[in-house]
Amino acid sequence: MSARVVVLGSGPAGLTAALYLSRANLAPTVYEGLQPGGQLTITTDVENFPGFPEGIMGPELMERMKKQCERFGTTFSWDSIEAADLSSRPFKLTTGSGDIVEADALVIATGATARLLGLENESRLMGHGVSACATCDGFFFQQKHVVVLGGGDSAMEEASFLTKFASKVTLIHRREEFRASAIMLERAQKNPKIEFMLNHTVTDVLGQDKLTGLRVKNTLTGEESDFDCDGFFLAIGHVPNTKAFAGQLETDANGYLITAADSTRTTIEGVFAAGDVQDHTYRQAITAAGSGCMAALEAERWLEAQEG
Ligand code: NAP
Repeated sequence: MSARVVVLGSGPAGLTAALYLSRANLAPTVYEGLQPGGQLTITTDVENFPGFPEGIMGPELMERMKKQCERFGTTFSWDSIEAADLSSRPFKLTTGSGDIVEADALVIATGATARLLGLENESRLMGHGVSACATCDGFFFQQKHVVVLGGGDSAMEEASFLTKFASKVTLIHRREEFRASAIMLERAQKNPKIEFMLNHTVTDVLGQDKLTGLRVKNTLTGEESDFDCDGFFLAIGHVPNTKAFAGQLETDANGYLITAADSTRTTIEGVFAAGDVQDHTYRQAITAAGSGCMAALEAERWLEAQEG
């Protein structure tokens, strides 16, 4: 297959890019990726996406975005993109089923995946007390006891944010030193609702239909114990989904794609990046959608310039 522009990823960034590209008559193909609809499909109510005063369920919001793209001629493929050769144009993408797709321009919106512990009960209770997004789910824990795991800026930010709702936040971190910046750590330490449990890690997530507690292990003594809580928020980092482009596009130290200032241009001409794959700061559906729009407009202008 040969296309003028291909979009990789089907979260808010990818679908907004596809919507704009379709409306520019560029007939984009979207490769939906392993999690069609992206991270919003694993959240419940989305109450901060403008235009939905009553809120909307994450999966429904993504379904609506997809329909809007289809209305203007976007083609969707369930096939995954396993490898990309960006060394010359047209770019060559290899799909999971072995097809080669050629594209003059590329919008990478493959997102980032919250790092999880990999425990069986953690994935079973995801959305039922276990969450990797305080901004999305914190509101549901009014006057509850919640736990945040991690010792970086995300953990401090999420713990502080959760004190707006929860009666108590326990921050569990596996050692005594923190990766978090001094100012964010200090803010969390000064918050009377946050209690620190250092030198501990979580070894199991307890509960049948919803989370009721955690099993923790003291990393110094190896001793395990259980305690009750209502929510468990993982803040142990995100992993940007950039495997297919490894070594070809410039990334920061954490693997996020680098884009030019105020732009979605990557370090390879004709390749644009939008959403969480290039943004570890805001990570919101609305900011991802905004950058998807930017990527589409930039790709459209770039394709036009190639013809001119
Ligand atoms: P991070 O800095 O990589 O911190 C991850 C934390 O999770 C570390 O404390 C790490 O412990 C812990 N961790 C990792 N794997 C674990 C495991 N399996 N079990 C238990 N703990 C585990 O990630 P982040 O906090 O998401 O931050 C990512 C980047 O975004 C950073 O550059 C950060 O500064 C930035 N950020 C900035 C802001 C802000 O400025 N407002 C907010 C959020 C994030 P160890 O320390 O022991 O390795």
